[in-house]
Formats: sequence, structure tokens, C-alpha cells
Amino acid sequence: MTHQLSLAELEEIEARHVLRNYARLPVAVASGADVWLHTTDGRRVLDLLCGLGVTSLGHAHPNVTMAITEQAGKLLHASNLVHLQGPVQLAERLAQSSLGGGVLFQNSGAEANEAAIKLARRHKRGGEVVSLHNGFHGRTYGALSATPQEAKQEPFAPLVGGFRAVPPTVEALETAVSDHTAAVLLETIQGESGVLPIPDDVLRAARAACDAHGALLIVDEVQSGMGRTGDMWSYEASGVVPDAITVAKALANGLPIGALITGPHLLDVLRPGDHGSTFAGNPLAAAAAHAVLDVMGDPGFLPRVREAGARLTAGLESLPDVAGVRGRGLMLAAELTPEAVERHGTTAELAGRLMTEHDVWVNAPTPTSLRLLPPLTIRDEQIDEGVRRIAAGLTAR
Ligand SMILES: *Cc1c(COP(=O)(O)O)cnc(C)c1O
Repeated sequence: MTHQLSLAELEEIEARHVLRNYARLPVAVASGADVWLHTTDGRRVLDLLCGLGVTSLGHAHPNVTMAITEQAGKLLHASNLVHLQGPVQLAERLAQSSLGGGVLFQNSGAEANEAAIKLARRHKRGGEVVSLHNGFHGRTYGALSATPQEAKQEPFAPLVGGFRAVPPTVEALETAVSDHTAAVLLETIQGESGVLPIPDDVLRAARAACDAHGALLIVDEVQSGMGRTGDMWSYEASGVVPDAITVAKALANGLPIGALITGPHLLDVLRPGDHGSTFAGNPLAAAAAHAVLDVMGDPGFLPRVREAGARLTAGLESLPDVAGVRGRGLMLAAELTPEAVERHGTTAELAGRLMTEHDVWVNAPTPTSLRLLPPLTIRDEQIDEGVRRIAAGLTAR
């Protein structure tokens, strides 16, 4: 490694050699520890976003670091042509923690959803995939086709055929799902669209409609899974059991991994050669995921997420500029009052100033709300410090 470049130097190289795909905050991160990110100009930022729900055990968690280090010295890759103990046992653990069937590893959330869509079409050839308005399932073509958001889809038309989007209502699902439906793909809490919970009666209607027409109910747990909502999987709170779930973000605390997990009745749907991915199920990511599951397997872990979520919710609700808090566990959004939105310009600008002037990281999924996806390991005093920093940012104008 060469010496640490400054933010200005990084921006200068990026202007010449990095495609303009991302609008970045004017912050360069050098390292992280626990709930803190360390910037190259020496600031310590309280990370209440976890790189979008990924580093759920905080940065540089010692168990994860040790697992990765040990595995890196043994084997990084051997491909899916051979048996590998780490990934196989990870599949067993993931299935046993959820739907009890089979697992297909991928490398990201979008890819996990691609695999789920292929599973559904293999299960019902030519069938339609129904998703919900404001849903988000990823940026690859299949996942994007199930992501009915104009700004994300429109520039990249034509999309994949056989997708249909409906509003998240009982009636809409009852009308849209038919014998031609292969799957309903949905999030229980729509994260990217602003932490919008889908009501339980809508989830039950999706389950009933799928049962009536032989379609698969697939829950996208990419953001909401892995303890984020205070349950291991967000579907658990509703009592609705899907046929399959997709997982990614927090599964390996920062290493790329994704997984499709099915119920036992779907173990034999995909056949050898149907799908594949060179890197999927690699032993390094699997080792990290085992370490994450070990930590989350502590009987006190999920109750603590719920307790921390309640404390953070109460703290945010106590702020005069916050009109309400939605979400569950540590997957939360604070809706600002119209006056606060007016004072701050857009919430995106507010989130930018919270990051650059108040050293706390949240983001703005909608023009009127802030989203918080803090580490699930966050302590009470760190929650209180986060609320204080957000309050300071809100009262600065
Ligand atoms: C982030 C996200 C995805 C996409 O995951 P990538 O790893 O970015 O491909 C899919 N679904 C949901 C619900 C997500 O939040």
C-alpha cells in the first residue's frame, strides 16, 4: 500500500477514472472500529447506517476478523465443482434458522433475487412475477424488473418480460395473482423506499393468493433479515411463512455474499446446470458468515436488538422536529415535521450535514425522512450519543 491519499486527491483521480455512477459524500474513510468510522482527516463518525445495513456487528468485529484471517490462510476459492465444508455447513445453519429446506449461495442481494426468480420460473414455467409498488430488489435486470420505480427502471428499458407491480393492498394481490403467477416477491418492510412496513393482512393475502394458485411467496430479507428487525427474519413477526427468502447484506458483516433459502418442498426444483456463479459459496465469505451467526446465536442477542430499537425510537420521538418513527427493531426511519423539512432543504442535504458537520451517519431514503440502520451491537450510551448528534444537526438551522 502507498501512503494515505487526501479526500481532494481521491476526488481528482475519480474525476478522471471512476465512472460517475455514485454520488458520494465528501468523506474519505480509512478504517473503522465498532460503531465508529475513522476518516482520513482524523474525524470519528458515529455510523448509524452500517454501509446500508451491512456491518451489523460493527466494524472490525474481532470474531469476524479472526474467522476471515484464519480462512484466508487456508483456502479462498475452489469453485462449486467440489465439496467445501464451510459453505455446506453454512447452508445447513441458514436453512435450520429459517425455512428448513435448501440454500443456493450467491454474491449479493440482487443475485439472490435473480436466483429466486429463476427458481420460481423453474417451478412454474413462463409464470409471472408479481412485486409491490415501492419495492426494491436490486439493479440487475431480473431484480430491476421486479423493482417498480420509474427513475431506476425507465433509463434501462426494455426490462425483462413477465413482471407485474401492484399496490400493497389485499384487493390488488387478490386480483393480480392467478394461475399464471409464478411468484409474489416482496419485502415485509420496504427499506430503500423509506422503511415502509407492509401490513400483516397484506402479507397474509399474498400467502393465501399464492396458495390458491400454486405460486411461490418469496420474501426479500436482504435488508430486513439477519436480526435487523429484532427477529432473525422479518417474516417471523407476521406469522406468514414464505416458500423462499433471499438474504445478503449483513450475512457476512461486509464480505460479499447472498443466498436463496427455500422450504423443503423446493429442494429439487433447480437441477444441475440450471444456474451458477463462479464466486458463490466461497469459503472466505462463508467463514465470516459463520462468525456472524455465532454472535447472533447468543440467546440475548435478538432481545437486545429489540431493546436497543425501543431506546432509539424513544430518543428520536423525543425530538421536536421528528413527527414519527416507523420500522421495527433497528430498521427505522424518522419522519420529520414539515417545518423541519422546510428549514433544512432536502433531507439528503440534512443527512450530508449530519455526516460532515456532526459526525453521525444516517441517510435520507425519502425527501422527508431519515433512515437509521445502526449496528445491532450498539450500546445504550452510543444510541444516546447518536440521538444527541442528530438533535444538534436538526437545531443547527
Ligand atoms: C440492498 C437490497 C437489495 C440489493 O442488494 P445488492 O447486494 O445491492 O445487490 C435487494 N433487496 C433489498 C430489499 C435490498 O435492501
